[in-house]
Amino acid sequence: MAKDNKKKIRESNIPQNSGLQKKNLNKVQGQVFVFTKSLTVGELAKELNVNPSEIIKKLFLQKKLVTINNYLDDDTIGEICLEFGFDFKKEEIIDEEDFEKIKIDDKPEDLKERPAVVTIMGHVDHGKTTLIDAIRNSNLAANEFGGISQEIGAYQKQVNGKKITFIDTPGHEAFSAMRSRGASVTDIVVLVVAADDGVMPQTIEAIDHAKAANVPIIVAINKMDVPGANPDRVVNELMKHDVISEDFGGEVMVCKISAKKKEGIDELLETILTEAEMLELKANPNRYAIGTVLEAELDKGEGPKATLLVQNGTLFSSDYVVVGSTYGKVRRMTNEFKQVLKEALPSTPVSVIGLNEVPLAGDHFMAFPTEKQAKDIAEKRRLKKVNEERSQNSGVTSLENLYEKISEGQMKQLNIVVKADSTGSAEAVKASLEKLNNEQVKINVIRSAAGAITESDVLLASASKAVIFGFNVRPSALVRKKAEEEQVEIKLERIIYALIEDVENAIKGQMVKEKIELSVGQAEVRNVFKVSKVGEIAGCMVTDGVIKNNSLVHVLRNGAVVYDGEVESLKRFKDDAKEVKTGFECGIKIKNFNDVHEGDIIEAYEMVDKDNE
Ligand code: GDP
Repeated sequence: MAKDNKKKIRESNIPQNSGLQKKNLNKVQGQVFVFTKSLTVGELAKELNVNPSEIIKKLFLQKKLVTINNYLDDDTIGEICLEFGFDFKKEEIIDEEDFEKIKIDDKPEDLKERPAVVTIMGHVDHGKTTLIDAIRNSNLAANEFGGISQEIGAYQKQVNGKKITFIDTPGHEAFSAMRSRGASVTDIVVLVVAADDGVMPQTIEAIDHAKAANVPIIVAINKMDVPGANPDRVVNELMKHDVISEDFGGEVMVCKISAKKKEGIDELLETILTEAEMLELKANPNRYAIGTVLEAELDKGEGPKATLLVQNGTLFSSDYVVVGSTYGKVRRMTNEFKQVLKEALPSTPVSVIGLNEVPLAGDHFMAFPTEKQAKDIAEKRRLKKVNEERSQNSGVTSLENLYEKISEGQMKQLNIVVKADSTGSAEAVKASLEKLNNEQVKINVIRSAAGAITESDVLLASASKAVIFGFNVRPSALVRKKAEEEQVEIKLERIIYALIEDVENAIKGQMVKEKIELSVGQAEVRNVFKVSKVGEIAGCMVTDGVIKNNSLVHVLRNGAVVYDGEVESLKRFKDDAKEVKTGFECGIKIKNFNDVHEGDIIEAYEMVDKDNE
C-alpha cells in the first residue's frame, strides 16, 4: 500500500464510535450539531457560534434561570439547537481508552479476505514441534530467504497463492494464557495426535480449550510412518470426545501425516485453506491497526521488542501504538525473515521495536493517529491498571523486618514485584520464589515481567507494600528516587540463586550482615569517541550523584545491565579528574570495555556494609 493509501486511512477510516473523532464531535457538522456529553451554556454557545447571553435569554423566556457555567441537560441542548436553526444528535462514544471493547463495525464493502491464524496443539511428544518445523521448512528451496534464522514466534506460509499464519508456540498453555487475558488470536486449531499413541490427557485438554474458545479443529494424525500406526483407533477415540470426522458424518477434517518424513504436509496445508474458506475470514485493511501481542522481551540492543499480530486494519511503520498500558512509535517493523516492512496487513505477525516498555503476551494493541493521543490513552490505562492492582493487593512489608513481622504474627504474606531482562528469566525467578512458600509466610509475586524497573513498578510496590526484585535490570536514578520517596525496597541481583537466598534468609530471620551495592551516581553517554591505542571514551553528562575516577560501574542499556566493570580513567576536558558531579560533562573510559553506545547509562556504585546503607 502506498503513501497515498496510508493518508486516506488517516483521513477516513477512523474506527466508528471510538472516540477518535472526539476532537471534532462538538462542532457544527453541516446543519447537524453532534454532541457527546452535557455542555455548559458557555461551551454550547462557543460550539454554535452564538453569544452566551442569547442562550441565557432564550432560557430565561422559558422561565429557566441559568448562568454561563451551568450545565445543560440533553433535552435543553436539543431545544437550543433547534432554536438556533440546527438539527441535533446525541452520540454515545466508547472511551478509546478501552479499545478492546470497541465494537468494530466495518462496512461489508470494506472487508477483504484475510489469512487464517493457526495454532498447533496436542499431547506432549505427539509431534507438534516437528510439525511446526516441517511446515516452516517445507518448500524452503523455493523460498529465497531459506536458511535465514527466523526471528519471531509466528510466521506466514504461502500455499496455493494464499497465506496461512502460524503461531509458533505449540501447546494449549500459551493458547489459554492468551485467552485468560481476553485475547483470541486463533482461527483454527490443528490437533496433533500420534497414530501409535492415540488420544491422551493433553489431547483432551486441547479439545476442551479449542471448544471453549469456539475455534474449529483440524485433526492431524501424525507418525503415520511408525509400524504400529493405527489411525482408525485415533478417529474412534476422538469421537468419544465429540470430535467427529467427516467420514462419520461430522464436520472435522482429518489428515494423515508424518511430520518427521514431511509426508502429508501439503494436504494438511490445503485442508487448512479449505477450512479457512468456510470460515470466510475477513478484515478491513483500511483502518487503524488493532491486534494482540504474541510475545515480548527486552532486547539489550534495541529495547522493548514485541511480536504483534495485526488482526484488523493495517499497521504502518511510524504509527503510534498503545499496547497494554504502554505506548510508542513503531521505529522498525520486521517479518520472520528480519526484512523491514513498511506496512502489515490483517493476520500478519510482525516484530516491532519502539515501545517504551515491554508489554505482556496477550495484551491488545491499537494504532493511533498522534503521539499525544497514544500517550494520553496509555497513561490512562496505566493508572487504571495500577488502581486495579492496588485494590487487589492489600499489603505488607520489606525484607529487612520480615522475620520480626512473621514472628509477631503481623505478617502472613510477602508481596514481590519481579522485573528481569527477559520473560523467561522473570518466569523462572517467579517460580523459584513461589517454591519458598511455607506455613508462616506466603510469597505472592504480584507482578513478574521483562523490562527495566519503572515508576509504575514502584507505585504498585508501594501500594502493595511489596519488595521489588530486579534480575539483571536496574532502575534509573529517577525511579530510584521515587522508590526512596515511597519507601519501597529495590533488591538487585544478577544470579537467581543469590536472589532466592536473600528471601530464604529473610524468612528464616537470618539476614546476614553483608556487603551490598550502593549506587552513587549516574552518567548518560552523549557521544562515543574512538581513540587509537586507548579504546572507546564515553562522552558523558553526569545526571545524578557523582562519578569517581576509581568507581565500580554498571553499563545500562534500556535499563538492562550490559557490562560490569570499573572506571579506568575519568577526564574533565583534557585533564584527569578525581570526581565529576551532577550537571558536568566528562569523558569516561571503562576498563576492558569498548562497546559503549550513545544513550547508555553508566552507573557508579560502591560496596558498603548493609548497615551503612
Ligand atoms: P511435541 O512434544 O508434541 O512438540 O513433539 P516433538 O515434535 O518434539 O516430537 C516428539 C518425538 O516424536 C520426537 O522424537 C520426534 O522426532 C518424533 N516424531 C515427531 N513426528 C514424527 C513422525 O511423524 N514420525 C516419527 N516416527 N516420529 C516423529
